[in-house]
Amino acid sequence: MEREKTKEKRVCSALAPFGTTIFTEMTTLSNKEGAINLSQGFPDFDGPIEVRKAASEAIMRGPNQYCPSIGLALLRSAVADKTKRFYGVNVDPDTQVTVTAGASEGLAATLLGLLEPGDEVILIEPCYDLYPAMIARAGAHAVYVSLVRPGFDLPKEQLKMVIGKKTRAILINNPQNPCGKVFSNEELNWLGRLCRKHDVLMISDEVYEHLVYDGRSHVTLLNFPQFADRVIVISSTAKTFSMTGWKVGYVIASEALSEAVRMSHQFITFCTPGALQEAMALAMNMDDSYYDSLLKGYSAKREIFCNALADMGFEVLWPEGTYYASIDIGTLDFFDDLAFCRYLVSHVGVAAIPSSFFWNERRGGRDLVRFCFCKKDETLTEAIRRLKKWKR
Ligand code: PMP
Ligand code: GLN
Repeated sequence: MEREKTKEKRVCSALAPFGTTIFTEMTTLSNKEGAINLSQGFPDFDGPIEVRKAASEAIMRGPNQYCPSIGLALLRSAVADKTKRFYGVNVDPDTQVTVTAGASEGLAATLLGLLEPGDEVILIEPCYDLYPAMIARAGAHAVYVSLVRPGFDLPKEQLKMVIGKKTRAILINNPQNPCGKVFSNEELNWLGRLCRKHDVLMISDEVYEHLVYDGRSHVTLLNFPQFADRVIVISSTAKTFSMTGWKVGYVIASEALSEAVRMSHQFITFCTPGALQEAMALAMNMDDSYYDSLLKGYSAKREIFCNALADMGFEVLWPEGTYYASIDIGTLDFFDDLAFCRYLVSHVGVAAIPSSFFWNERRGGRDLVRFCFCKKDETLTEAIRRLKKWKR
């Protein structure tokens, strides 16, 4: 009886249905089995040494106290400069850039600062697990539409059907985790016009903005001045500078929308560690060669990893962006993607993510499994060796 009592669940009703994330579950399993972890998306190498040195120096020099809630001027200016350099867009660092604890807090601050209870937010599946959880916590409702396979095309007719009076926002992820879709200019423009017609906000999670392959370049929603009054772009330094544990992210939006984001941000974390902000300002200001070599490195890894999977006979979904590649396991003899991933981690020694967790109704992606290739070449080589041996 006592024991039953200690096991009592105290999680609020909005979050209870979500349970522990699939990323925690798979990384825990991977560690337990001593597997190669290609599940949760983090590099097995650290970002630039000069950036790490700058952070340690800033910690030793101090101050190590609260910094301004909206972020250090140094980092906000670096964000504005990078936005101008890569996308040709002017943003005011004082009124339009807010530094957050990763894109995660940027998303939470945006959703909690802008949504009213009962609002609807349209999500485009497959989508990142944080979105529905934070929408629910805001008392709003997620309305799902799915990208149309095999090409992961935008379901335009369905979008026109679900958007309505209750819709407050559409939340997109470009490039998209886990499927690697990169939205075309035409798709973004189409979405913008739809949102303008229905007076709906556009929230765009662009954390993989610098990982777009095949000579294409990232088009941010900030590139559409005609939609500027309804656009909120969220990004992060995590992937671009290979320091996912630092949690330095940011939100860019009009002054009025930034005010809403800042309102909730001040009550969530208030501010983000100053030393890490200072170091990330330095990182962001690195010249184009840094960004070019990051992309070149990941393009090579994508090539090696996807080709190896294809050579083994897997049907591979090459990503247009992100550092994730997926395989279709529909023809293999497994109950579903979760069963496949559980088998793989314990019998083959490679951990992956069952993609169905990115769909509201898991059957949407039950035949897909996601691997991250943000790993050292030797890690990928060993993972490939293990997979090959098993596949034979
Ligand atoms: N959005 C997406 C699509 C992600 O994959 C992730 C995971 N890194 C995040 C947001 C969270 O980013 P951060 O680590 O900066 O909080
Ligand atoms: N974004 C990472 C991924 O998709 C996971 C981050 C997390 O653990 N929440 O793998």
